[in-house]
Amino acid sequence: MQDLNPAPGGRAAELRDRLAAVRHRIAAASADAARPEPALIVVTKYFPASDVRILSGLGILDVGENRDQEAAPKAEETSDCRLHWHFIGQLQTNKAKSVVRYADAVHSVDRVSLVNALAKGWAAENEHREQRGEHPRDPLSCFVQVNLDEAAADARGGASPGLIEELAVRIAGAPGLALAGVMAVAPLGADPLTSFRRLGDLAAAVRAVDVRATGMSAGMSADLEAAIAAGATHLRIGSDVLGPRPPLR
Ligand SMILES: *Cc1c(COP(=O)(O)O)cnc(C)c1O
Repeated sequence: MQDLNPAPGGRAAELRDRLAAVRHRIAAASADAARPEPALIVVTKYFPASDVRILSGLGILDVGENRDQEAAPKAEETSDCRLHWHFIGQLQTNKAKSVVRYADAVHSVDRVSLVNALAKGWAAENEHREQRGEHPRDPLSCFVQVNLDEAAADARGGASPGLIEELAVRIAGAPGLALAGVMAVAPLGADPLTSFRRLGDLAAAVRAVDVRATGMSAGMSADLEAAIAAGATHLRIGSDVLGPRPPLR
Protein backbone atom coordinates (compact mmCIF):
# COMPACT_ATOMS: atom_id res chain seq x y z
CA MET A 1 0.00 0.00 0.00
CA GLN A 2 1.12 3.51 -0.75
CA ASP A 3 1.41 5.96 2.11
CA LEU A 4 -1.43 8.39 1.39
CA ASN A 5 -0.54 10.63 4.29
CA PRO A 6 3.12 11.08 3.49
CA ALA A 7 5.70 12.81 5.61
CA PRO A 8 6.21 16.50 4.83
CA GLY A 9 9.28 17.13 2.71
CA GLY A 10 9.23 13.69 1.09
CA ARG A 11 8.71 12.90 -2.57
CA ALA A 12 5.19 11.55 -1.96
CA ALA A 13 4.19 14.81 -0.28
CA GLU A 14 5.68 16.83 -3.12
CA LEU A 15 3.82 14.84 -5.76
CA ARG A 16 0.59 14.99 -3.78
CA ASP A 17 0.80 18.79 -3.51
CA ARG A 18 1.77 19.33 -7.14
CA LEU A 19 -0.99 17.02 -8.27
CA ALA A 20 -3.54 18.86 -6.14
CA ALA A 21 -2.50 22.17 -7.74
CA VAL A 22 -2.83 20.74 -11.26
CA ARG A 23 -6.20 19.20 -10.44
CA HIS A 24 -7.33 22.56 -9.13
CA ARG A 25 -6.31 24.25 -12.40
CA ILE A 26 -8.14 21.59 -14.41
CA ALA A 27 -11.31 22.00 -12.35
CA ALA A 28 -11.20 25.80 -12.64
CA ALA A 29 -10.55 25.77 -16.40
CA SER A 30 -13.30 23.21 -16.99
CA ALA A 31 -15.77 25.29 -14.98
CA ASP A 32 -14.76 28.46 -16.88
CA ALA A 33 -15.23 26.72 -20.22
CA ALA A 34 -18.40 24.92 -19.09
CA ARG A 35 -16.85 21.67 -20.30
CA PRO A 36 -16.47 18.26 -18.64
CA GLU A 37 -13.08 17.67 -17.02
CA PRO A 38 -10.68 15.87 -19.36
CA ALA A 39 -8.84 12.71 -18.36
CA LEU A 40 -5.48 13.48 -16.76
CA ILE A 41 -2.51 11.55 -18.13
CA VAL A 42 0.57 12.16 -16.00
CA VAL A 43 3.67 12.10 -18.19
CA THR A 44 6.34 10.32 -16.15
CA LYS A 45 9.16 10.38 -18.73
CA TYR A 46 12.65 10.75 -17.22
CA PHE A 47 11.25 10.00 -13.74
CA PRO A 48 11.72 6.67 -11.94
CA ALA A 49 9.24 3.84 -11.49
CA SER A 50 9.08 4.78 -7.81
CA ASP A 51 7.33 8.02 -8.81
CA VAL A 52 4.86 6.06 -10.96
CA ARG A 53 4.11 3.92 -7.92
CA ILE A 54 3.50 7.00 -5.73
CA LEU A 55 1.21 8.50 -8.38
CA SER A 56 -0.76 5.27 -8.56
CA GLY A 57 -1.22 5.45 -4.80
CA LEU A 58 -2.48 9.03 -5.21
CA GLY A 59 -5.25 7.80 -7.49
CA ILE A 60 -3.65 8.35 -10.90
CA LEU A 61 -4.92 5.82 -13.44
CA ASP A 62 -3.20 7.02 -16.61
CA VAL A 63 0.50 7.59 -17.23
CA GLY A 64 2.32 8.70 -20.36
CA GLU A 65 5.78 7.92 -21.72
CA ASN A 66 7.57 8.94 -24.91
CA ARG A 67 10.41 6.42 -25.28
CA ASP A 68 9.93 2.67 -25.44
CA GLN A 69 13.33 1.84 -23.93
CA GLU A 70 12.33 3.78 -20.82
CA ALA A 71 8.63 2.92 -20.72
CA ALA A 72 8.91 -0.86 -21.13
CA PRO A 73 10.96 -1.53 -17.96
CA LYS A 74 8.95 1.03 -15.98
CA ALA A 75 5.66 -0.64 -16.93
CA GLU A 76 7.18 -3.99 -15.96
CA GLU A 77 8.37 -2.70 -12.57
CA THR A 78 4.92 -1.34 -11.75
CA SER A 79 2.84 -4.13 -13.29
CA ASP A 80 1.13 -4.67 -9.93
CA CYS A 81 -0.33 -1.11 -10.09
CA ARG A 82 -3.61 -0.61 -11.90
CA LEU A 83 -2.50 1.79 -14.62
CA HIS A 84 -3.18 2.56 -18.25
CA TRP A 85 -0.03 3.34 -20.23
CA HIS A 86 -0.19 5.95 -22.99
CA PHE A 87 2.60 6.13 -25.53
CA ILE A 88 2.93 9.78 -26.57
CA GLY A 89 6.28 10.06 -28.37
CA GLN A 90 7.51 9.64 -31.89
CA LEU A 91 7.50 5.92 -32.53
CA GLN A 92 9.71 3.91 -34.87
CA THR A 93 7.94 1.01 -36.55
CA ASN A 94 10.48 -1.46 -35.15
CA LYS A 95 9.41 -0.47 -31.61
CA ALA A 96 5.71 -1.05 -32.22
CA LYS A 97 5.98 -4.70 -31.21
CA SER A 98 7.37 -3.77 -27.81
CA VAL A 99 4.94 -0.90 -27.21
CA VAL A 100 1.81 -3.00 -27.74
CA ARG A 101 2.89 -5.27 -24.86
CA TYR A 102 2.23 -2.61 -22.23
CA ALA A 103 0.48 0.34 -23.89
CA ASP A 104 -3.28 0.76 -23.88
CA ALA A 105 -3.11 3.80 -26.15
CA VAL A 106 -0.75 5.35 -28.67
CA HIS A 107 -1.22 9.09 -29.16
CA SER A 108 1.39 9.55 -31.86
CA VAL A 109 0.11 7.63 -34.87
CA ASP A 110 1.26 9.75 -37.80
CA ARG A 111 1.84 7.46 -40.77
CA VAL A 112 0.38 4.39 -42.44
CA SER A 113 3.50 2.26 -41.89
CA LEU A 114 3.05 2.74 -38.14
CA VAL A 115 -0.63 1.74 -38.31
CA ASN A 116 0.43 -1.49 -40.00
CA ALA A 117 3.24 -2.16 -37.53
CA LEU A 118 0.95 -1.61 -34.53
CA ALA A 119 -1.74 -3.91 -35.96
CA LYS A 120 0.86 -6.58 -36.65
CA GLY A 121 2.37 -6.23 -33.19
CA TRP A 122 -1.04 -6.41 -31.54
CA ALA A 123 -1.91 -9.60 -33.43
CA ALA A 124 1.43 -11.21 -32.49
CA GLU A 125 1.01 -10.26 -28.85
CA ASN A 126 -2.45 -11.79 -28.74
CA GLU A 127 -1.23 -14.96 -30.33
CA HIS A 128 1.38 -15.28 -27.56
CA ARG A 129 -1.26 -14.65 -24.95
CA GLU A 130 -3.55 -17.25 -26.42
CA GLN A 131 -0.73 -19.81 -26.37
CA ARG A 132 -0.16 -19.07 -22.69
CA GLY A 133 -3.89 -19.28 -21.94
CA GLU A 134 -4.08 -15.58 -21.04
CA HIS A 135 -6.83 -13.05 -21.73
CA PRO A 136 -6.57 -11.28 -25.08
CA ARG A 137 -5.65 -7.59 -25.02
CA ASP A 138 -8.26 -4.93 -25.49
CA PRO A 139 -8.00 -3.11 -28.80
CA LEU A 140 -5.21 -0.51 -28.84
CA SER A 141 -6.59 3.04 -28.76
CA CYS A 142 -4.93 5.09 -31.48
CA PHE A 143 -4.93 8.87 -31.77
CA VAL A 144 -3.94 10.46 -35.08
CA GLN A 145 -1.19 12.96 -34.29
CA VAL A 146 -1.57 16.16 -36.29
CA ASN A 147 1.30 18.49 -37.10
CA LEU A 148 -0.16 21.97 -36.54
CA ASP A 149 3.12 23.64 -37.49
CA GLU A 150 3.73 22.72 -41.09
CA ALA A 151 6.41 25.36 -41.45
CA ALA A 152 8.51 23.34 -39.02
CA ALA A 153 7.79 20.06 -40.81
CA ASP A 154 8.36 17.04 -38.58
CA ALA A 155 9.95 18.99 -35.74
CA ARG A 156 7.52 17.59 -33.17
CA GLY A 157 5.99 14.78 -35.21
CA GLY A 158 2.52 14.43 -36.61
CA ALA A 159 0.83 14.05 -39.96
CA SER A 160 -0.01 17.10 -42.01
CA PRO A 161 -3.71 17.98 -41.70
CA GLY A 162 -4.42 16.86 -45.27
CA LEU A 163 -3.41 13.29 -44.42
CA ILE A 164 -5.27 12.70 -41.18
CA GLU A 165 -8.52 11.45 -42.69
CA GLU A 166 -6.70 8.74 -44.63
CA LEU A 167 -4.87 7.73 -41.46
CA ALA A 168 -8.13 7.62 -39.52
CA VAL A 169 -9.64 5.31 -42.15
CA ARG A 170 -6.61 3.01 -41.97
CA ILE A 171 -6.76 2.80 -38.17
CA ALA A 172 -10.52 2.20 -38.15
CA GLY A 173 -10.02 -0.65 -40.62
CA ALA A 174 -7.09 -2.29 -38.84
CA PRO A 175 -7.85 -5.36 -36.71
CA GLY A 176 -6.93 -4.79 -33.07
CA LEU A 177 -6.78 -1.00 -33.36
CA ALA A 178 -9.50 1.39 -32.20
CA LEU A 179 -9.64 4.90 -33.59
CA ALA A 180 -9.66 7.19 -30.55
CA GLY A 181 -9.41 10.71 -32.02
CA VAL A 182 -6.71 13.30 -32.61
CA MET A 183 -3.63 14.51 -30.77
CA ALA A 184 -1.37 17.54 -31.17
CA VAL A 185 1.33 19.54 -29.47
CA ALA A 186 0.82 23.31 -29.73
CA PRO A 187 3.46 24.81 -32.02
CA LEU A 188 6.13 26.85 -30.26
CA GLY A 189 5.49 30.55 -30.41
CA ALA A 190 1.89 30.28 -31.61
CA ASP A 191 -1.21 31.11 -29.56
CA PRO A 192 -2.22 27.71 -28.08
CA LEU A 193 -5.95 28.52 -28.09
CA THR A 194 -5.89 29.21 -31.84
CA SER A 195 -3.90 26.02 -32.43
CA PHE A 196 -6.16 23.85 -30.30
CA ARG A 197 -9.33 25.27 -31.91
CA ARG A 198 -7.89 24.24 -35.26
CA LEU A 199 -7.29 20.78 -33.80
CA GLY A 200 -10.95 20.75 -32.70
CA ASP A 201 -12.01 21.32 -36.31
CA LEU A 202 -9.77 18.48 -37.49
CA ALA A 203 -11.19 16.24 -34.77
CA ALA A 204 -14.57 16.53 -36.46
CA ALA A 205 -13.15 15.06 -39.68
CA VAL A 206 -11.82 12.07 -37.73
CA ARG A 207 -15.13 11.63 -35.91
CA ALA A 208 -16.80 11.45 -39.30
CA VAL A 209 -14.79 8.25 -39.92
CA ASP A 210 -15.95 6.65 -36.64
CA VAL A 211 -18.48 8.30 -34.32
CA ARG A 212 -16.76 6.68 -31.33
CA ALA A 213 -13.53 8.58 -32.06
CA THR A 214 -14.38 11.48 -29.77
CA GLY A 215 -10.91 11.93 -28.25
CA MET A 216 -8.86 15.09 -28.41
CA SER A 217 -5.47 14.70 -26.72
CA ALA A 218 -4.17 18.22 -26.18
CA GLY A 219 -2.72 20.32 -23.40
CA MET A 220 0.56 20.13 -21.51
CA SER A 221 1.68 21.89 -18.32
CA ALA A 222 1.94 25.32 -19.93
CA ASP A 223 -1.24 25.29 -22.01
CA LEU A 224 -3.79 23.05 -20.32
CA GLU A 225 -6.29 25.90 -19.89
CA ALA A 226 -6.30 26.66 -23.63
CA ALA A 227 -6.68 22.97 -24.43
CA ILE A 228 -9.67 22.63 -22.10
CA ALA A 229 -11.28 25.74 -23.61
CA ALA A 230 -10.93 24.16 -27.06
CA GLY A 231 -12.49 20.86 -25.97
CA ALA A 232 -9.60 18.57 -24.99
CA THR A 233 -10.67 15.18 -23.62
CA HIS A 234 -7.16 14.03 -22.56
CA LEU A 235 -4.45 16.22 -21.00
CA ARG A 236 -0.79 15.14 -21.00
CA ILE A 237 0.83 16.79 -17.99
CA GLY A 238 4.45 16.16 -17.00
CA SER A 239 6.55 18.83 -15.32
CA ASP A 240 3.78 20.55 -13.34
CA VAL A 241 3.10 17.26 -11.53
CA LEU A 242 6.60 15.79 -11.34
CA GLY A 243 8.75 18.90 -11.21
CA PRO A 244 11.51 20.00 -13.57
CA ARG A 245 12.79 17.10 -15.65
CA PRO A 246 16.12 15.63 -14.57
CA PRO A 247 18.75 15.29 -17.32
CA LEU A 248 18.30 12.22 -19.55
CA ARG A 249 19.82 9.16 -17.96
C1 LIG B 1 6.74 15.68 -22.40
C2 LIG B 1 5.46 15.72 -23.12
C3 LIG B 1 4.30 16.21 -22.50
C4 LIG B 1 4.29 16.80 -21.09
O1 LIG B 1 4.88 18.08 -21.14
P1 LIG B 1 4.98 19.01 -19.84
O2 LIG B 1 5.29 20.33 -20.41
O3 LIG B 1 6.09 18.45 -19.03
O4 LIG B 1 3.68 18.97 -19.14
C5 LIG B 1 3.12 16.16 -23.22
N1 LIG B 1 3.07 15.68 -24.48
C6 LIG B 1 4.15 15.21 -25.11
C7 LIG B 1 4.03 14.70 -26.51
C8 LIG B 1 5.39 15.21 -24.45
O5 LIG B 1 6.47 14.75 -25.09
